[in-house]
Amino acid sequence: MNNDNSNPQYWFYLDNYVHLERLGNRVLLYNSLTGEIREYMDNQEVLHLIEKLQSPENLLVVQLGEKELKDPEISAFVHDMRNLFMGDLIEASRSTGKPIQLAPVLKLHRDADKMKTESFRSVGVNVMKYLDRLALYVNDSCTLDCGICSSARKQFLWCNRGNTGAELHIDKLRQLFDQLVGSDLRYVHILGGNILAYPGLHELISILVEHQLKRTFYIHYLNLAPGRESLQNLGLTLDNYSQMNVLVNFPVDEGKLKITCQILENFSIPVTFAFALQSEAEFTEAERLISALSIDSVSFHPFFNGQNLEFFEQGVFVDRQSLSAARPSLKEIHSRQVMNPFLFGNLTVLTNGDIHAGINDLPLGNLSKDSIYDIVYREVFQGQTWRRSRKQVIPCRDCVFSALCPPLSHYEYALGKNNLCRIWPLNIDGKAAN
Ligand code: SF4
Ligand code: SF4
Repeated sequence: MNNDNSNPQYWFYLDNYVHLERLGNRVLLYNSLTGEIREYMDNQEVLHLIEKLQSPENLLVVQLGEKELKDPEISAFVHDMRNLFMGDLIEASRSTGKPIQLAPVLKLHRDADKMKTESFRSVGVNVMKYLDRLALYVNDSCTLDCGICSSARKQFLWCNRGNTGAELHIDKLRQLFDQLVGSDLRYVHILGGNILAYPGLHELISILVEHQLKRTFYIHYLNLAPGRESLQNLGLTLDNYSQMNVLVNFPVDEGKLKITCQILENFSIPVTFAFALQSEAEFTEAERLISALSIDSVSFHPFFNGQNLEFFEQGVFVDRQSLSAARPSLKEIHSRQVMNPFLFGNLTVLTNGDIHAGINDLPLGNLSKDSIYDIVYREVFQGQTWRRSRKQVIPCRDCVFSALCPPLSHYEYALGKNNLCRIWPLNIDGKAAN
């Protein structure tokens, strides 16, 4: 170490809760504890310093002399890092050696790549541990005619009418759940059509009770009043593993929604009212209804209809402020780099038996000829959905924000682009728009 008194030495380090992304001439630093973001572009001194910090032998700690610290770019950078609690300086004379900084290492629990090297038997046992959620479209019959039908389920969990009479036979579903014993499956979503018209519903509930699986029933509010009888016969209150999502889209028949609320008062099952929204005006109206009908639990689902881009730009698109406010943890950031936390572990079974990892992706197989083990194995080792990250898609792969942005969802398909943001193309002053 240089002990030259004319050039005192310091250790400069970045804290290990800081996420650092360097791409070409851009650098992004993010404090995962406070949400603060700093970007640098075309700053050669800072780029060089970041390169040194990132090198495996330095592990985010480098030596800086007083002379280097007088460089205006380095000085401003160090000042920023100290001000934002992302890094600090220590006088080298105060430490006996180089301080040790434990840089975060990416390590995913049950990493599929590691599993590839394990014996066939252990892979066979382990692969089913990935399966977390199943969405079952049990039938496609419905007498209603909502404008959003057929498109909504491609964006979020919603019912869908085909009226072909197709349905998943209860025997097939029993076989499916028998194969899932020992898996980590925890949640099952039951959707139609109108599931109250599905003849196997009572038996399906018995199977789910038997397997102690959490289940959510998706029923459109206009199907609830006429289906009141079947609802009562179902014994939905048997245990506390059940939840009902009542689907509401506009225009809303307030009188019928009120009747639905009254019917549900007689059930102890937890209910969430899920509103599909196409505009700011619908959002305002939904808030009025929620208040007027004293609805406790709600979820909102923006629906892209091809003409309401502005609504999405305002309500769904991310910007620097919203990413900072969301404050993703380092663990979330790391997992987003190698998999898709939104899609991972999910399978959807359609009424024709086709099984999809993502509703907008090609089927992995069919219930009638493939075992669920084969399906999960295919997705884990050959599939593209569960591991689809922003690092793989244009333009996000060239963007320093890729690990901070929410995982790719079904909305990117619906809107036909991956950059659902007001950040790209990148502009250092934060005024960029696409
Ligand atoms: S209730 Fe559901 S399945 Fe029926 S028409 Fe409306 S969106 Fe389609
Ligand atoms: S381009 Fe992609 S990664 Fe970059 S900010 Fe936009 S959505 Fe996020």
